Amino acid sequence: MTVSQREIDNAARAINAGELVAFPTETVYGLGADALNKDAIRKVFALKGRPSTNPLIVHCRGIAHARMFAADWPDHAHDLANRFWPGPLTIVVRKNAFIPPIATANGDTVALRVPANDTARALIEAASVPLVGPSANPSGTISPTTAQHVQDAFPDLLVLDDGPCTTGVESTVVTFAHVTPRVLRPGVLGHEELGVAPFEATSGSDGSSSDPKTSPGLFKSHYAPRARLVLDQDVPGAERLHLPDNAADAARELYARLRALDSTGTDTIVANTPKGTGPIWDAIRDRLRRAAAPAD
Ligand code: AMP
Ligand code: MG
Repeated sequence: MTVSQREIDNAARAINAGELVAFPTETVYGLGADALNKDAIRKVFALKGRPSTNPLIVHCRGIAHARMFAADWPDHAHDLANRFWPGPLTIVVRKNAFIPPIATANGDTVALRVPANDTARALIEAASVPLVGPSANPSGTISPTTAQHVQDAFPDLLVLDDGPCTTGVESTVVTFAHVTPRVLRPGVLGHEELGVAPFEATSGSDGSSSDPKTSPGLFKSHYAPRARLVLDQDVPGAERLHLPDNAADAARELYARLRALDSTGTDTIVANTPKGTGPIWDAIRDRLRRAAAPAD
């Protein structure tokens, strides 16, 4: 961890005062606020321009802490928490009354995660509260994987800089709120490893869906560069996205490379849909498809 305890304590004081602090996680940089403070959470939605229908993930210290906010805690969820926390897995369960409704978009479920990054863990510890932590970027744009990415969008925000994120794409979201546990958002941990039903892309482009197989706020268009992203077609004069051959490297590099191409000022970025197999490539393909989807 490259962040000093003094910086952590300073950030924790800001969190406890109802302010926002950007913090590193192994997946992407998060926009942190006290998950028990509805006024602080309102600031998160406002700063990101995030639709109030898109619920937040609550970041906790460990399993016992996360369970404090769950109305029920199935054995399968407990087993996954034991195996994969701290790590890039988000578990959705029925919520109790501690978490304010604004955090969960008025839904009766809550998304819980224990991040693996030491700075994130130290911040949760020092603040003594769980943190909401959506990606620290304007809603719909490319997620930040460095402190500089956060500062580019939000120059006035306090950012804890712990270097580039090591995973690079958002957590796998799994729900236990329905009869069959399933993946709501693909991430580097795959459904087979988790023993749950696979992700099914069935929601509309506005993310609205009453289908229990889909996640609220999981928008068809998301993670998008300013330039148009075109998959599997050649466009003269376009910049081309190249990804490393290794899946974990590609996930770590994906957003920074999209940002670098975007910052050339090009109108169009082209990319080939990667052919690799396994959950990490599945997650990368999911992000590329969303980045290429029309924003409508
Ligand atoms: P972000 O933190 O911006 O990466 O997004 C968090 C994502 O987690 C949301 O867009 C949802 O897809 C998912 N999520 C959060 N809370 C819930 C919930 N209560 N039920 C289902 N999915 C959720
Ligand atoms: Mg996000």
